[in-house]
Amino acid sequence: MRQKRVAGNWKMNGDQAQNAALLHAIAEQAEKTTAALLVCPPFPYLLQAVAALQTTGVEIGAQDCSAYQEGAYTGEVSARMLADLGVQWVLIGHSERRHYHGEDNALLVEKGRRAVEAGLKPILCVGETLAEREQGLTQQVVAAQIAPFLEHFTLQELASFCIAYEPVWAIGTGLTATPEEAQAVHAAIRAQLAEVDASWAEQVGVLYGGSVKADNAASLFSMPDIDGGLIGGASLDAGQFLAIANAA
Ligand code: PGA
Repeated sequence: MRQKRVAGNWKMNGDQAQNAALLHAIAEQAEKTTAALLVCPPFPYLLQAVAALQTTGVEIGAQDCSAYQEGAYTGEVSARMLADLGVQWVLIGHSERRHYHGEDNALLVEKGRRAVEAGLKPILCVGETLAEREQGLTQQVVAAQIAPFLEHFTLQELASFCIAYEPVWAIGTGLTATPEEAQAVHAAIRAQLAEVDASWAEQVGVLYGGSVKADNAASLFSMPDIDGGLIGGASLDAGQFLAIANAA
């Protein structure tokens, strides 16, 4: 049985007061959920989250990391710094990074490399745009986003990864892939991973993201290849986030 996991991607939202309330509510309920929980606050609030959740078993992720190790890279945050704070996970290649910041596969492989070197577990985010889906290119696009990682990382390194399938047209739009549409892509992802190693492919967590809410989570998470979710908007509301976690 693969571990179910529900991750909250707070994006560029929150302040210390709002975060304190959200973290408190998550901390109080965390033990009751069977899914593994993880929150990804903005960089300035990572320590606040680490402190608030340290005895709860809820893990902390960053939303990004630098492709560089250290040095004269103004404004960048290294994977090693994140690990030093007590962060365990990092999102790599969220579609907002790919689209607003022009991050391409070559850069993302470097970010993944820095993450693995620092002992962080990457959540590799992949997904097609609406135009790509309409052209029937979904599986091809997703496979092309995953392939460079399969090429550049050893099986041992890949063992720490999760994949998050997030159709770009479903992120923050209220549109969700149907459970069947999502399952088809998740199954294709797992088949691609199985070409590297069948037993790893059976173990790796493949999360779904894109307008997951309390009322659609259970049907998505009941699909055989959907191992939980990466939750954006709904992760800012403790009640929604915990209801989603309980659906996993
Ligand atoms: P959403 O975002 O749940 O608000 O659609 C998901 C994500 O971008 O990770």
